[in-house]
This record gives sequence, structure tokens and C-alpha cells, in this order.
Amino acid sequence: MATLCPECDNPLDIDQDEVEEGETVTCDECGAELEIVSTEPLQLALIDADGYDDEDDDYPSRGSEEDDDE
Ligand SMILES: [Zn+2]
Repeated sequence: MATLCPECDNPLDIDQDEVEEGETVTCDECGAELEIVSTEPLQLALIDADGYDDEDDDYPSRGSEEDDDE
């Protein structure tokens, strides 16, 4: 059973015996980089150009705006 590229749904011919968790593969069809997150069952996660798709907004903390009565 082929694993589909999460980006373009191209069937990827990955032998789960030949890959390890944490390895990256590249989709031939769209060039997406995919990380093997699990081998049983085989699961892939898309790796963005910017890295993982987590929220990493760097808002400065605004803790100094409280009223401080003295
Ligand atoms: Zn693809």
C-alpha cells in the first residue's frame, strides 16, 4: 500500500523496512520534504521551508503595562 504525499497526493514508493523514524524523504512529484514520523504504520509529516508548522510568533511580552501603584 503506497503512502501518499501529504502535499500533492502522489503515491510515494517508500519501503517501511528501509526507512527510519526521523529520516527525511523528498517527494519526486512536488519536491516536498517529508519526515518519517512513524514507520508502523508509515506516516509522513510535511516539512515546511521554514521548518515545522508550529506557531512561533515572537511577540514581546508586555508584562510591564500593569498599574503599579506605589
Ligand atoms: Zn508531493
